[in-house]
Amino acid sequence: MERIEASITPQQVQQQQEFASLLAALLAAKYDEQPKVHIRTFGCQANEADSQRMAGQLQQCGFMLCDDPDDAQLILFNTCAVREHAEDRVFGNVGRLKQRRQSDKSLRVGLCGCMPQQEHVAEQLKQSFPFVDLVFGTHASPRLPELLYKLYSTGRRVYDISAGQNEIVEGLPIERGSGVAAFVPIMFGCDNFCSFCVVPLVRGRERSRVPQAILDEVRGLVQQGYREITLLGQNVNSYNHDGYDFPRLLRELDAIPGDFWLRFTTSHPKDCTRELLDVMAAGQHICRHLHLPVQCGDDAILQAMNRRYTAQQYLDLAAYARQVMPDIAITSDIIVGFPGENYEQFCDTLEMLRQVRFASLFTFIYSPRKGTKAAELPDDVPRQEKVRWFEQLTALQDELGAQLCQSLVGKTLRVLVENPGKRLALAGRTAGNQIVEFDGNDALIGQFIDVRIAQANGWKLEGEIT
Ligand code: SAH
Ligand code: SF4
Repeated sequence: MERIEASITPQQVQQQQEFASLLAALLAAKYDEQPKVHIRTFGCQANEADSQRMAGQLQQCGFMLCDDPDDAQLILFNTCAVREHAEDRVFGNVGRLKQRRQSDKSLRVGLCGCMPQQEHVAEQLKQSFPFVDLVFGTHASPRLPELLYKLYSTGRRVYDISAGQNEIVEGLPIERGSGVAAFVPIMFGCDNFCSFCVVPLVRGRERSRVPQAILDEVRGLVQQGYREITLLGQNVNSYNHDGYDFPRLLRELDAIPGDFWLRFTTSHPKDCTRELLDVMAAGQHICRHLHLPVQCGDDAILQAMNRRYTAQQYLDLAAYARQVMPDIAITSDIIVGFPGENYEQFCDTLEMLRQVRFASLFTFIYSPRKGTKAAELPDDVPRQEKVRWFEQLTALQDELGAQLCQSLVGKTLRVLVENPGKRLALAGRTAGNQIVEFDGNDALIGQFIDVRIAQANGWKLEGEIT
């Protein structure tokens, strides 16, 4: 467990430490052995980062982290609300715990993150999942020790879905779970209100961390030997702290000495500037990978999505990125079947794929989210039809992605070794975020090595250490 420097709200952090100590004493008296907690995280990397902070706090409260929920006395679901499918998976997983919760008196179940931050879901949880002991939203997570103390000291259910003040809490403990890769949130929330998206409703207004806190955190991580630092934000390009913007932050982070990779996600095309791409191109540590969600390739749909760029503007941006970084990997997110979208418009998205040649894609079928503008639009395309478009989209990307992988054969790429592979002994990632497998010794895990790409099976790369 490590601590990060700088505290914007030291009283708040200290108060939580006091709750953590009280709870640790209470748990020591209640359980013969140290109680275990299992955290199950759904959704994006922002949730992963939140879970790492909650893990740090739970350790402070006297819990031991465990991988198997069957071993745990506390199971915490950190949830995602971006699509209905994500919510259904959570409901299914939590529902399956009902019997165990009812028969095992020492078990407690908690649910947090984006789902309960929506009022109607919090209400649904209250009504339909009375065996869930603890429910809190994204804004309350820094107060986890306090919430748990309430739960364990009173034995009563605890609900906290307050709207929050959109503050940033510095100085919470973090359990990163890895000594190699670290997430560093640089901004929170989102003000873009893309018409399909629930994130601004559950994560609050956009706010940026103090640059010095970020620089200190990254410097500390590099000194500890972390090899991959990923800067996180719903839209990192709009990072701004009193005029100190994202290109400047990236440039200053890049100047930190050491052997490490710097990544960032997510970039919104409307705020991704040529200056930013120039900083990437000049960088020593910055991976030449740009995750730049386009969502679709048709101007009318882009406008209805409130994305605030045109297909041509996106293509120009991608072209400039390639001009200054010919080896850059561009990845993206696509939504199929936005309300009112017709087949012709969907074909514009296919054309976008052919023009940009994305290294990989996250593809989604549109899912209406309560409280968003798009949820009120008429939607006359049957689900089956959307599924057909979706399959057409993924088939095209498989083909284009495989061609791109094939073009890497014979090249030698720098790879960060991550874990044992599925087919060969080891697996790692390239700067472009592509997974490569190769043979080698376990001791290489966490190291940078050069790998010559020997073959590509579809989008699976295999190589040899040079
Ligand atoms: N902040 C990030 C995205 C967060 S959500 C960004 O702006 O890129 C991640 C992805 O989920 C989005 O890019 C979008 O493709 C998808 N998504 C969001 N809301 C959705 C919805 N209602 N239905 C389907 N996909 C959605
Ligand atoms: Fe959602 Fe758009 Fe904000 Fe991304 S930029 S989180 S898609 S509203």
